[in-house]
Amino acid sequence: MRYISTRGHAPARDFAGVLLAGLAEDGGLYVPETWPEFSPADWRALRGKPYAEVAARVMQPFVGGALPFGTLAAICRDAYAGFGHPAVAPLVQLDHNLFVQELFHGPTLAFKDMAMQVLGRLFEHVLAERDARVTIVGATSGDTGSAAIEAFAGRARADVVILHPAGRTSEVQRRQMTTVLAPNVGNIAVAGSFDDCQDLVKAMFADVPFRSELHLSAVNSINWARIAAQVPYYVAAALALGAPEREVAFAVPTGNFGNVLAAWVARRMGLPVARLVIGSNRNDILVRFLAANDMRVQPVEPSLSPSMDIQVSSNFERLLFELLDRDPAATAAAMARFRAEGRMAVPDAAWHRARRLFHGLRLDDPATLAEIRRLHATAGYLADPHTAVGIAAAQAHPCPAGAPMVAVATAHPAKFPDAIAAAVGLHPPLPPRLADLYQRPERYTGAPADLAAIEALVRATVQRNA
Ligand SMILES: *Cc1c(COP(=O)(O)O)cnc(C)c1O
Repeated sequence: MRYISTRGHAPARDFAGVLLAGLAEDGGLYVPETWPEFSPADWRALRGKPYAEVAARVMQPFVGGALPFGTLAAICRDAYAGFGHPAVAPLVQLDHNLFVQELFHGPTLAFKDMAMQVLGRLFEHVLAERDARVTIVGATSGDTGSAAIEAFAGRARADVVILHPAGRTSEVQRRQMTTVLAPNVGNIAVAGSFDDCQDLVKAMFADVPFRSELHLSAVNSINWARIAAQVPYYVAAALALGAPEREVAFAVPTGNFGNVLAAWVARRMGLPVARLVIGSNRNDILVRFLAANDMRVQPVEPSLSPSMDIQVSSNFERLLFELLDRDPAATAAAMARFRAEGRMAVPDAAWHRARRLFHGLRLDDPATLAEIRRLHATAGYLADPHTAVGIAAAQAHPCPAGAPMVAVATAHPAKFPDAIAAAVGLHPPLPPRLADLYQRPERYTGAPADLAAIEALVRATVQRNA
């Protein structure tokens, strides 16, 4: 399987190449040169199989010749063995035609683990084959940093250093990062905002001598391998509910558009997906696009669902490329205009095509708390604020044909105890394997938002592990 850039001016690469590269050199995102398709018989053959096996079979065409199937299958088995539920991504029924798929049973209690646990092992395998090392650097305001740390802790060929804004993440989120004491893990609490952290990471990548000395790499949500590892849970849910003989629909609380894009990919592969519903908080650029073909950037506003406090959904470029009939020049031009003017419109025909499949709902914070309260009262279900937005979106846009609707649950309620307490007046307990999180020792270093200071700390982490 070969991958091409959405902007048409970067070398084609295989799966291992796009795994390590992340972003393409022309600023575009890698996508498969052709989409693999499964027949109804192919889907049926996956029914009733363990999640790890479904994952390996669904990812196999994307991995192509880059890894032998046996290696990929072993990686998937190992990645999901540590999850807190034997079904890995279980379905819970809320109403006669409404289901929740829980994607939060991984080590950090958020759906990022579904892909990141596979990614850490893929990196290790590919780096061993090339006899290479990398230093993963990233900035986080919440879930991505801890998922990356859990995925790379203790790996022989990678160090991981995560910057977080000091005092501005929740205590659960900070402790999930800082209590991982493996020598190859570094946590830096930056005196500044999340934007400062992100700027520092960009500055490290722009410092070419530093970048090549430490072999910097990233695992942010534009990495194709993360999308590929998110497709299987949509397949597993659809098969459990009757696919390929029966259509299903999905509702996805959306930020960077990576999760819902994976659902689109499953549909493109032939899974009968009737509808995709996007849930947004007050940062609702995608909902506004679907309503009026007017994607206009506004300032990011903090909300109860911080992982969706995003105005520029980076993975949208992959859908845009498809909406523009895979025309890289048109995609590059649209993205350049978007960057320059802060707004984008697509040709009418493409917009109508998007609207036939995608629907959207915006839910503000008071409505999100009300939805958490309602779900608890009516179905006895405790949903975190992100999940509640997705469930509300599902209920706002049910399938006319009566296909079952699956809302994906992206975080465990115990990750957002303040919102849950405000909504229903109780404190959701952490699962047993994390019950002592508040007693575990932490290790992190505070630093000013200064490039030289941060680079020195990254170097120190790498040397500690050498
Ligand atoms: C990352 C995240 C999202 C948003 O997912 P995207 O792939 O960025 O759209 C939603 N909910 C939670 C809890 C997350 O961590």
